[in-house]
Amino acid sequence: MSNKPKPDPAELRARLSPTAYAVTQHKDTERPYTGEYLDNKTQGVYHCICCGEPLFHSASKFDSGCGWPSFFEPCDSQQVAEHLDMSHGMIRTEVTCQHCGAHLGHVFNDGPAPTGLRYCINSVSLDFSAISDSDSDTSS
Ligand code: FE
Repeated sequence: MSNKPKPDPAELRARLSPTAYAVTQHKDTERPYTGEYLDNKTQGVYHCICCGEPLFHSASKFDSGCGWPSFFEPCDSQQVAEHLDMSHGMIRTEVTCQHCGAHLGHVFNDGPAPTGLRYCINSVSLDFSAISDSDSDTSS
């Protein structure tokens, strides 16, 4: 985890979409099947929309059918924090960004191998950066 400062709430309010602000700062949930990254198959890294820390790699993304981007593991377990969430009459495990505390989504025990976990993550909590083939091309 980096030592850079946590994002300023006023800066976040100005920069983020209303939905992204509500989700990351007030634990709201984006409507299912609306997320920009739901069907994203491009190779790359998903960062926290608030602080920029890397959270998930495309290699762990899978089609869960649940309506939100789903991953079977974070890129590093130190990058996310998990909390018991008893809101809305359910017992769930909330997932937040370890660095800035942004709400990301929830993790469930019905994911695929090798972890059996499904990190069900709001697309608006994420900022994707593709790893292009040209990045490894040293001749250009
Ligand atoms: Fe963050």
